[in-house]
Amino acid sequence: MVNHGMVLLCIRTLGDIPCRLLRAISRTLTNVNHELRWCQYPFQRHIYILPRACGWIQCRHLPTLALRPLRAVEFFQGTLDSTDEIETARVFDTTLRDGEQSPGTSFSYDDKREIARILDEMGTHVIEAGFPVNSEAEFEAVRDIASSTDTTTCGLARVVDGDIEAALDSGVEMVHVFVSTSDVQIEDSMHSSREDVVEQAITAVERVVETGTTCMFSPMDATRTDEAFLTTVIEAVSEAGTDWINIPDTCGVATPRRFYDLIEKVCQHTDARIDVHTHDDFGLATANALAGIEAGADQAQVSVNSIGERAGNAAYEEYVMAIESVYQADTGIDTTRITELSQVVADRSGVPVPSNKPIVGSNAFSHESGIHAAGVIENSDTFEPGVMTPEMVGARRRLVLGKHTGTHSVRERLVETGFDPTETEVRAVTRRVKDYGAEKRRVTVSDLERFAEEEGVAELPEKEEVRA
Ligand SMILES: [Zn+2]
Repeated sequence: MVNHGMVLLCIRTLGDIPCRLLRAISRTLTNVNHELRWCQYPFQRHIYILPRACGWIQCRHLPTLALRPLRAVEFFQGTLDSTDEIETARVFDTTLRDGEQSPGTSFSYDDKREIARILDEMGTHVIEAGFPVNSEAEFEAVRDIASSTDTTTCGLARVVDGDIEAALDSGVEMVHVFVSTSDVQIEDSMHSSREDVVEQAITAVERVVETGTTCMFSPMDATRTDEAFLTTVIEAVSEAGTDWINIPDTCGVATPRRFYDLIEKVCQHTDARIDVHTHDDFGLATANALAGIEAGADQAQVSVNSIGERAGNAAYEEYVMAIESVYQADTGIDTTRITELSQVVADRSGVPVPSNKPIVGSNAFSHESGIHAAGVIENSDTFEPGVMTPEMVGARRRLVLGKHTGTHSVRERLVETGFDPTETEVRAVTRRVKDYGAEKRRVTVSDLERFAEEEGVAELPEKEEVRA
């Protein structure tokens, strides 16, 4: 069935659309510049496929939704006009290195292999697998990840021989060397001097470069480093041949505007590619990473669920989806596996995902309030970003029943559950749901069924198969 240049694929199913099919269609469409949208209707699910340029979608089974405009471009034109042009942005994942430095987290060999496998399959550009000199087990995990993944595997090293040799021996394609450059860390952490730092940085970069391995250099605590000294270090390691310079906001003190200015200046002093590493002490990590990309960085270091030192790093899921959806630029990542990745990392790290966490929290695509749920039932763009749907990240939209529920949600859920309620019955059941939810109790499907039965709601006749 074709409408307004749109292809409508109607899948008749009472269960879920097979996820793999959805992903395959989604991937194919993205490649040919089409957009996939879908809606649910009791006992039927439809997938709409339409060119991005097409302004309309039509559903013949839901007359109220007919010719509904697709307004993502209008919504976001302002954002796009205000940001510098970004065509692509690369993803350097440090879940297995900085993420593992979350207080209390320790990944086993198997944990690391499993997380790396998913990151690799999703198309993550670099996986920082660990700190090879740390232990024999860490060395083996990094080595085996390097040999079993298609992506670039990175190993961390201080600017000391033992670290660098261990990283090189592990067979990684990239060695990430770092040294403190802020006076407070040089003096009170390293007990060294600026001169020694520059010397060690040059020697370390030269050693990595001479082996033909890709070199990334980080001036640790760059955002609290004297700017003239930072420039000296950057020029020295660029001269020594580093491929990448990472600018870390080690203690999370950057603000997006200041970080943008810093990255812009760094770009003027090197031909190396720029990468940024931002921490979330003030909740600005992802915003700062995006500011870095706007200022000319090619890549950001992120961790899944934002785990990492202290308050953690820029979140993988926030960074990727902001680039894809808000900036409408391409990361090349298979975003439909983000929810699965988040769950695996939460499970293996022992760091649970808060319910209100962007993108991966259980409330990220949930609606309870009557006005929001009624809007979303009619058109999910009303109270969701529109440019990001749960399907894009492998999640599901949920209408949660509780104190704030309205009649639209209750009717929808009753019909889904197999009831055929009158308006009066919907109102009666809604009252029961609100009262029950107000006592801070979760309203489950069996609670709803009990309320419906107690209110004498009739069950739907045997479902008819609807023809596509
Ligand atoms: Zn860090």
